[in-house]
Amino acid sequence: MPKPLKYDKLPLPYEAPAAWAQRVVAWQLTHGRNDLPWQSTRDPYPVWLSEIMLQQTQVVTVLDYFNRFLKRFPNVLALAQATQDEVLGLWSGLGYYSRARNLHACAQQVVSEWSGVFPRSAAGLQTLPGIGPSTAAAIASICYGERVAILDGNVKRVLTRVLGFDADLSQARNERVLWALAQNLLEPLSAADLTKAMPRYTQGVMDLGATVCRLRKPLCLECPVADVCTARQQGRETAYPVKTRRVKRTSQSYWCLVATTPCGDVWLSTRPTPGVWAGLYCAELFESHSALVQALPPKIQNQVQDLPPLLHKLTHRDLHLHPVRLQVSKSYIQKALLPTPTGRWFSGKEWPELGLPAPLRVLLEQLEPQQILSR
Ligand code: SF4
Repeated sequence: MPKPLKYDKLPLPYEAPAAWAQRVVAWQLTHGRNDLPWQSTRDPYPVWLSEIMLQQTQVVTVLDYFNRFLKRFPNVLALAQATQDEVLGLWSGLGYYSRARNLHACAQQVVSEWSGVFPRSAAGLQTLPGIGPSTAAAIASICYGERVAILDGNVKRVLTRVLGFDADLSQARNERVLWALAQNLLEPLSAADLTKAMPRYTQGVMDLGATVCRLRKPLCLECPVADVCTARQQGRETAYPVKTRRVKRTSQSYWCLVATTPCGDVWLSTRPTPGVWAGLYCAELFESHSALVQALPPKIQNQVQDLPPLLHKLTHRDLHLHPVRLQVSKSYIQKALLPTPTGRWFSGKEWPELGLPAPLRVLLEQLEPQQILSR
């Protein structure tokens, strides 16, 4: 986290709006989201879990996963003792699977190096796998009332608009300045009130970005800080944040062997790390149709059937998936279909519990019930 600048050193013309933090706190109390399951506690375990799940994912999607995780792993020790396959299986469908791998590694580190108790400061939390500066600030401010500013995508949008911060956030030094400004905005909060004010401020600024100061159509008429918002005064709300360098989207095609047996077994192997869907179970992927066919035993090469292609969008990449169906006889059930080190047949009871890429899960669930028996 950057060292805060002093008020009188704020880079001009970015002036701190008067009583900014107090206004956000007051607004959150009456207009913010106050009934989310992770808001009823100051226990860092559920707060951390929710913060990791909420990265890149909307609240409505996270709710189910959050409840299922807490039920299966009620504390950090239970999560640390789980296998990575169990964690990935429960995470399946939430996407960005490195979060799940880091979640597991983080739980193990909290148990092995911190005696099962999360560090009580943002600086300590940041030393754990998968916890970056903004997530560390969210946990420390919510659980311990630490005066630390978060700066996720929503908050960047709110602050750049309010402050009229037009420096290019593609450059790390500009982001550091914005973070320092965000930190300075917390200075007026009374030290005596921090345990109550900081959780509400953190939640409030996130709520403001998610529900009012929206990316394309900000609801400025409903905004509690519209009177001090520079972007609003300029009539240029959507011109912020300024980010000139975007990560270029790429695209990739894979031919995906969906091999099944009449009794509902599916051939799956774990994806290598690093790479797409690293660590997840997946049907075998090939870079061409012919490579897929040639990998099969000659006797069954003519049994493949092409299914309609799918487009799956990752953060910076479009994956064009060409599923190729293969139904093999029972004699293949006990044999290896392909010489892949981690590949094997999974029964219709086993595969739904695995961590699978979302499009493959959908594909398997859509196959005829008599061909794929699930659960
Ligand atoms: Fe965002 Fe509009 Fe509020 Fe400014 S006035 S912070 S642009 S919602």
